[in-house]
Amino acid sequence: MKTDIRSMSQNELTELLSELNQPKFRAAQIFKWLQSGVETFDQMTNIPKPLREVLAEKCYIANVEIVKRLESKIDGTVKYVYKLFDGEYIESVLMKYEHGYTVCISTQVGCRMGCSFCASGLEGLFRNLTASEMLAQIMKAQIDNNIRVSNVVMMGMGEPLDNFDNSVKFLQLVSDQDGLNIGLRHISLSTSGVVSGIEKLKEYGFPITLSISLHAPNDNIRNSIMRVNKKWNIDSLLKACRDYQKVTTRRISFEYALIDGVNDTPECADELAKRLKGIMCHVNLIPANPVKENNFKKPDKQKIIRFCDRLIKNGVNATIRRTLGADIDASCGQLRRKVKEGDFCEDLQ
Ligand code: SAH
Ligand code: SF4
Repeated sequence: MKTDIRSMSQNELTELLSELNQPKFRAAQIFKWLQSGVETFDQMTNIPKPLREVLAEKCYIANVEIVKRLESKIDGTVKYVYKLFDGEYIESVLMKYEHGYTVCISTQVGCRMGCSFCASGLEGLFRNLTASEMLAQIMKAQIDNNIRVSNVVMMGMGEPLDNFDNSVKFLQLVSDQDGLNIGLRHISLSTSGVVSGIEKLKEYGFPITLSISLHAPNDNIRNSIMRVNKKWNIDSLLKACRDYQKVTTRRISFEYALIDGVNDTPECADELAKRLKGIMCHVNLIPANPVKENNFKKPDKQKIIRFCDRLIKNGVNATIRRTLGADIDASCGQLRRKVKEGDFCEDLQ
């Protein structure tokens, strides 16, 4: 089987090239090419042809192919549907903020966590993405729009901590100064609460923002919408967050999708505030986005504002997230696995 060369670090490339009796500087050159988004070895113009040929025999360069590009008429957000080498499809979203461009990347094809409000997990997990496939989503967006991406959120399809090794490799590569050079402080990793993964991630001490998809103030409600809570309940999740924060000293972000009649009462806000005491954090309130397979609705605007105000009154730093790309199904929880090209955005137009 050929080696996935875009997933290799500079040290791993140096080792590979020394096995091929090549000098060290070649590894640095090849790393730069790979991380700049080249798609073939022949594009590496300062590498001798015979070496390019040997590399092409032993390795492959993972790419993603744009099969659909949808631009929101409301806010300019762009959703990409990418095809992978094996015919699977994933989605990424490019958003423009005042401080620059952010890409929301997928980390898996599908997801096995099965949260009841989310489209990504409807059919379960098909496979993990490699680090190179995560990087390629950013490279393609940069090249397609002739821009530099400054921020990344691992909040697309998939559970990054259920694909732990590839997610860690991605974080190391994307922040390499000779690569995409996106600082870890500009990266958020969102998890539904895989406690074992949070504990392992802590050991790396990455200064990323950890985002926790909490969505409920107690185990009763959380069990009813998130299967993962039956394995790791809220107490164990919040303990992992406290321990994580001791190491990274970074503010934790809690995501809370407000679902009408499920988790949106004033009592829920009070209970949530109580549970988050002592954690330096920010709560992101996301009015639940519609997914046609479930009946969840977002509460009305007044209720959302009241929930937010109540958290703030209780001393919690909270904001309501602006919805981007609503007209192109690019919002949280709306990214789904496509099986064939005809499946794309059937509800558009
Ligand atoms: N698997 C990871 C990251 C991807 S999901 C996680 O769950 O955190 C990205 C965010 O979208 C999560 O906070 C998720 O809970 C939220 N989300 C999923 N479905 C949603 C929906 N229908 N409306 C609003 N947010 C949703
Ligand atoms: Fe998976 Fe996250 Fe969707 Fe849950 S919310 S099913 S963990 S992608």
